[in-house]
Amino acid sequence: MNKKRVYIAYTGGTIGMKPGQDGYRPVAGFLADALSRYPEFRMADMPESEIHEYEEPLDSANMSPEEWFVIAEDIRARYDDYDGFVILHGTDTMAYTASALSFMLQDLAKPVILTGSQIPLTQLRSDARDNLINAVYLAANYAIPEVCLFFHDHLYRGNRSRKVDSNGFAAFGSPNFPPLATVGNQIRIRQHLLLDGPNQPLSVQKLLSPQVAVLTLFPGISAEFIGRLLAQGLQGVVLQSYGMGNAPVRDEAMLNCLRQATDAGMVIINTTQCLHGNVDMRQYQTGQKLMEAGVINGFDLTPEAALTKLFYLFSLGLAPADIKTRMGISLRGELTLPAGTRATKA
Ligand code: ASP
Repeated sequence: MNKKRVYIAYTGGTIGMKPGQDGYRPVAGFLADALSRYPEFRMADMPESEIHEYEEPLDSANMSPEEWFVIAEDIRARYDDYDGFVILHGTDTMAYTASALSFMLQDLAKPVILTGSQIPLTQLRSDARDNLINAVYLAANYAIPEVCLFFHDHLYRGNRSRKVDSNGFAAFGSPNFPPLATVGNQIRIRQHLLLDGPNQPLSVQKLLSPQVAVLTLFPGISAEFIGRLLAQGLQGVVLQSYGMGNAPVRDEAMLNCLRQATDAGMVIINTTQCLHGNVDMRQYQTGQKLMEAGVINGFDLTPEAALTKLFYLFSLGLAPADIKTRMGISLRGELTLPAGTRATKA
């Protein structure tokens, strides 16, 4: 029987970093060299793998939509040659890249699994080995037509994942959606949670540079501050509000700013600052006023998914009304509509 084949791309991140005088930093060639000496990759149950290191491995704090496109194109170019893809990535912005790729890789039929580690592969007590071996094994052997993130025994849907711990090995969570799989003595795949495979060939949507920003509310925020931000020619804003989607609406001037912006076609999507739960602006007056100002419901979208989904929809060249409608529809399993809620109609 032919061995399965997995493509491993090292984009940067702690997993392949070397300690230096100014802290950990990625060094070209270091990870590929370390992996070539790993006995696990020669074991019978492991797939054949090719490791490709990007020319300039990055600390993921330096990632941008340009690098997301490089990764997506890299997968597309090798799509027919491999059963699955593992993207080694820094943990800091891994949830953003996973979310972005979930939208950019249209009609994905094969597993794309991002992983990394908290301690470099070559250091004592590293968590890299387990994350890497499991990610490669899952990518080779399971039909998961999704962009996922594997960390510390859990396989998460990429666009549901968040970095939740800057220090611990359980660095990621998926606060509003169960893991797609857990890895212990046995590998348990939650088959019923997986997305359906596509019936079209893979294509990649490049993300353009729409003018999109994140606005986090805080006690004391002023209408002037919000007004200045919204006057920057923005097309879309991810609003991070309180609780179920509430804002300090006593200030009429602030509501006017928002209303003027949405009337002019700006897409303002309401997400919650809470780790768990969803936005439901019907619950409180402080939410209803936002709805009246034309702010749309982000349901249980993570901020990472909301932002990258806005990038994606604007890059498709859609009109704001269409974008508003699609922000309220699950495109890649990124949101759950609460019972009795209908998708936003623009
Ligand atoms: N700063 C690193 C990065 O995101 C952290 C890590 O990889 O864990 O690239």
